Amino acid sequence: MTLASPAAIRHDWHLDEIEALFALPFNDLLFQAQQVHRQHFDANAVQVSTLLSIKTGACPEDCKYCPQSGHYNTGLGKEKLLEIEKVVAQARDAKAAGASRFCMGAAWRSPRQKDLDVVLEMVRQVKSLGLETCMTLGMLDDEQAQQLSTAGLDYYNHNLDTSPEYYGEIITTRSYDERLETLANVRGAGMKICSGGILGMGEAPRDRASMLKQLASLSPHPESVPINMLVKVKGTPLEDVDDLDPIDFVRAIAVARIMMPKSHVRLSAGRELMSDSTQALAFIAGANSIFYGDKLLTTENPDVLRDRTLFDKLGLHPEENRMCQDEAAQEEALDASLRRQAIERKVPQELFYDATAETDDIA
Ligand code: SF4
Repeated sequence: MTLASPAAIRHDWHLDEIEALFALPFNDLLFQAQQVHRQHFDANAVQVSTLLSIKTGACPEDCKYCPQSGHYNTGLGKEKLLEIEKVVAQARDAKAAGASRFCMGAAWRSPRQKDLDVVLEMVRQVKSLGLETCMTLGMLDDEQAQQLSTAGLDYYNHNLDTSPEYYGEIITTRSYDERLETLANVRGAGMKICSGGILGMGEAPRDRASMLKQLASLSPHPESVPINMLVKVKGTPLEDVDDLDPIDFVRAIAVARIMMPKSHVRLSAGRELMSDSTQALAFIAGANSIFYGDKLLTTENPDVLRDRTLFDKLGLHPEENRMCQDEAAQEEALDASLRRQAIERKVPQELFYDATAETDDIA
């Protein structure tokens, strides 16, 4: 049995095409997303990351959704940069709990050199545990990105947050272009990019399409695309914004999967408030990465037990850490997994079709 040829990797999506995907009947959209997903991933594997805040609060930026911004009174105290030993101990625990990637976040506009020196040592030590490393430290210039890359940082997270059109409603202290510049510096230094956005901030449906267009126009696509549901925090300007319908959230996951077929799409912040059913739909729509652990920077994340129960219920398993394998071995392992999946489930050949042809047809 052979699978249909993989969906084309495109960077030239038109807004109309993306909106047409959003407008598909829900079943058709999820079916298409699931097919694209199965062409590139083991459908039942979910990459698991753990996130630790290494420096919390008093951020000079004014992101309207963020409890860490020093512009809003959310009752969050200002903390110093965590000591290296504490970070490494947490990373060790995360690995023991099944995480393959350890993400560290600091509430900075951009890191100062004396802080960066400490952070570089954190990267080296966490990496030496056999974990993939990811950091989010705010804006990076060329040289900072290079230093992190040399220390062994695998991923850098820097979200676009929303569409360029809606961006000014959410953040005024840094521009969209500055975000894109940081991403270019990260890529230029040879690191992988983790970049996505937040839904449910009062944006219009067209903004969701426009944000995904921006992400998909990055070449190569971000390896990791976190799609967050706003967690409304008291004291932030978005505390009373209207809820986003979970079905619209799942639609965005599905469209992200179709547009960025090889990226890990992460079901990110906001999971705590989602039902198991919504999360299951998000996995069907092509989400294949989660944060695991009891805190997501400063907002609650479902506890590990709930996640394990959900994985068991859905027959999901954590994706293996492939950092020690070369590209060819990775491809081979994925092919074998896809073949096994098809044979085990006796998936009829006609279920696989060329999803590219479908998406190309959308006007
Ligand atoms: S999202 Fe990041 S940059 Fe924005 S206020 Fe929060 S910590 Fe600062």
